[in-house]
Amino acid sequence: MTVTLTTTGPLLPGTDADCAYDVTVVGAGVVGSAIARELARYDLRTALVDAADDIGDGTSKANTAILHTGFDAVPGSLEARLVREGRELLAAYAAETGIPVERVGALLVAWDEDQLAALPRLRDKAARNGYHASRVIDAGELRAREPHLGPGALGALEVPDESIICPWTTPLAFATQAVRAGVHLHLNCRVRGVDSDTEGHTLTTSRGPLRTRYLVNAAGLYADEIDRLLGNEVFTVTPRRGQLMVFDKLARGLVGHILLPVPGPEGKGVLVAPTVFGNVLLGPTAEELDDKTATGSTAEGMRLLREKGRRIVPALADEEVTAVYAGLRAATGQEDYRIQEYPELRYVAVGGIRSTGLTASMAIGRHVTGLLAATGLEIAGPRALPLLTMPNLGEAFPRPCLSPGLVAEDPAYGTLVCHCEQVTLGEIRDALSATIPPHSLDGLRRRTRARGGRCQGFHCGAAVRALFEEARP
Ligand SMILES: Cc1cc2nc3c(=O)[nH]c(=O)nc-3n(C[C@H](O)[C@H](O)[C@H](O)COP(=O)(O)OP(=O)(O)OC[C@H]3O[C@@H](n4cnc5c(N)ncnc54)[C@H](O)[C@@H]3O)c2cc1C
Repeated sequence: MTVTLTTTGPLLPGTDADCAYDVTVVGAGVVGSAIARELARYDLRTALVDAADDIGDGTSKANTAILHTGFDAVPGSLEARLVREGRELLAAYAAETGIPVERVGALLVAWDEDQLAALPRLRDKAARNGYHASRVIDAGELRAREPHLGPGALGALEVPDESIICPWTTPLAFATQAVRAGVHLHLNCRVRGVDSDTEGHTLTTSRGPLRTRYLVNAAGLYADEIDRLLGNEVFTVTPRRGQLMVFDKLARGLVGHILLPVPGPEGKGVLVAPTVFGNVLLGPTAEELDDKTATGSTAEGMRLLREKGRRIVPALADEEVTAVYAGLRAATGQEDYRIQEYPELRYVAVGGIRSTGLTASMAIGRHVTGLLAATGLEIAGPRALPLLTMPNLGEAFPRPCLSPGLVAEDPAYGTLVCHCEQVTLGEIRDALSATIPPHSLDGLRRRTRARGGRCQGFHCGAAVRALFEEARP
């Protein structure tokens, strides 16, 4: 297995049309990585490039990590179809590769008579989206299942297949499998210009020119800017910030399901949900901004979340907050994805993947590959990809330090470095020497959970940094 992963220096192949890539995917978020993985199944020279120093470093690292059923999508939309298909694909892929998923189910809680009256309509909408397992439950059953719910809940719509998933392992698995199958991954590689001709494109990047026959734009928040470089004026991305609070693991017992509000005119609203890491999430907010880098948290956002959280699960107010974060949805003023092929340009734009891209990622990968083929890209296959097993980050599955056999075999799996999250020397060592190693301490956290617990690295920070620095070339 030859892996091509570059982070500095000029790119290969160069500007010569004969040694161009067949396809270049711009953006190594969960969507671009899923597309690259799908393309890896065909006999193609494929590149995946990202401006950041890691994969999954944009919106994909900061979401609510729910594997949606698509029960509440707009029936008949492209998003509805790709979320439905993507959930099936990703659930199966997660089981195969060890990405943590827990099928905890969701309850859409009605807090007033209008919301209660809306539940049967939402159940019927779910059925129109091909999801038939949802049912309305009364206040008694709701309280029996969620005893810590605030007073006044009148009933709920149960959606038993809504699940929680690890948002970090997912894009890493896609990208790892793609590069092991021959896709070239170029990081620190910002696309600044596109010069198109009848044979393809020459990309001007921060690391020099890159020649490609076909181009896929999966640049998330910046997909509109890449699209403009191709001469289009079709959509504008307006970042919609979602701030979230992460409660300590002691809060986990307060919440059994994903607790969703009944959607209103202002959108999907604030939820309370468990995470696969054993915490509880509260959020997200929905704030229209014009700054694509505004991923900070605000006092006003936290105040609003606390107020909403107190209504849903009052006891949460007494729990400790481990961390806060914010992600930016790539809103484009349209309630659907903006995936568009341009045969004459040998180009596919993948824009507006706002709130469901984690779930739909694998289906988007298949859909875009189909569009590329329809656009003229010759593809033969598909072939099977090399099997992959990802390290487990999920609290509900065996962690290395709790596996006596593994610890006996290699004592590094019994040597705890991060005590809050029970991360061992063996896991940190493995992440630092993996196919796609981290280039920052945050990248290491997303691969191991180290420094992600209640002390936020206060105790293990120096030891983790020392291991990270030692492993750097
Ligand atoms: C608060 C919040 C909650 C969410 N909850 C869920 C959920 O529960 N379930 C779910 O399925 N989805 C959820 N989502 C949506 C999901 O996170 C996104 O749809 C998904 O992460 C989008 O992935 P992406 O790859 O399109 O974008 P990104 O992850 O942003 O990736 C785009 C990449 O392109 C790169 N890039 C940009 N410009 C350039 C350039 N010029 N050159 C090179 N590279 C470039 C960036 O560096 C970035 O890495 C949520 C989103 C938010 C914000």
